Amino acid sequence: MARGRRIFKLMPRAGKTAQLKAMYAKITRYLTNNIYSITPGNYNPKEAKLRLLAAEAKIRTLTHKVIDWFAPTIESTYRLAKIKVIRKLERIGKKPSRSVNHQKIIDNQLRRIDRTIVKANRSMLTQAKGYLKLIRTAQREFKDAKLQELSFNEIRYKEDVRNIIQDAQLLNQTRQEVQRELKGYFKGRFGTFDYIEINGRSYKPSYYAEMVARTELRRAQSEAVIGASKEYGSDLVKFSSHFHARPDYEAVDPCAPLEEQVFSISGKSDKYPQLTEYETPPIHPNCMHHLDPWDEILEN
Ligand SMILES: [Zn+2]
Repeated sequence: MARGRRIFKLMPRAGKTAQLKAMYAKITRYLTNNIYSITPGNYNPKEAKLRLLAAEAKIRTLTHKVIDWFAPTIESTYRLAKIKVIRKLERIGKKPSRSVNHQKIIDNQLRRIDRTIVKANRSMLTQAKGYLKLIRTAQREFKDAKLQELSFNEIRYKEDVRNIIQDAQLLNQTRQEVQRELKGYFKGRFGTFDYIEINGRSYKPSYYAEMVARTELRRAQSEAVIGASKEYGSDLVKFSSHFHARPDYEAVDPCAPLEEQVFSISGKSDKYPQLTEYETPPIHPNCMHHLDPWDEILEN
């Protein structure tokens, strides 16, 4: 069994992932320089609108590039994993028993990835729009000179800002003191604005891209194990183990309790539970676990 473990150390090659991260770093820089540099002091509605349109076009281009990055990457990951699984299945005497449309499995995954990417990238535009809206509001509402030069981080939450300003007035704080206070407050609480927001969670774009890449390559691998096993009439898979040796392993990885467990793909085994999405890696972002084809004869 240990022999089968090594073959799944497959991850996107560092150089390839770097390409993807660079695409997101570039758009982040673009937004920082062209959108998030606008302050209530220098906000001009016409100019802001033009910049927003330009940002929209950039984000659209990014989406196409990212989708183009994923297609061959997922396809080759799946194909490579499939070859390895088939070699292993043949070693234990399995033979192809039915046809499986691997291309369809790959295409379905790519469609899901496209949706994820479109949604994530669109959130960057939503953030940019939200930011400009706040700047506009700030320019209108806070005519106070103290606020004119503050950047978006300080005006994101109007109520908080109002309270801080009121306190500052009561305490007779200087403009610099107010600025410092607001900066500290917002930085501590919200970080920066140039992020991707998905399902209520915020991510740094390049980190998000890397996480999606890892997760999806891992998923392609699991799909290949399941697809090839079906093709070879091999119903059992074993959940990999890499934390087991560590005494604290249950605290290290949420899927640690699944390690070394055997599952039935079809659910027709009376001995092993059915494999569901909850036992199919990736179980969590950056999950390093995988499934291996398995058969009782491997036990001996
Ligand atoms: Zn895991």
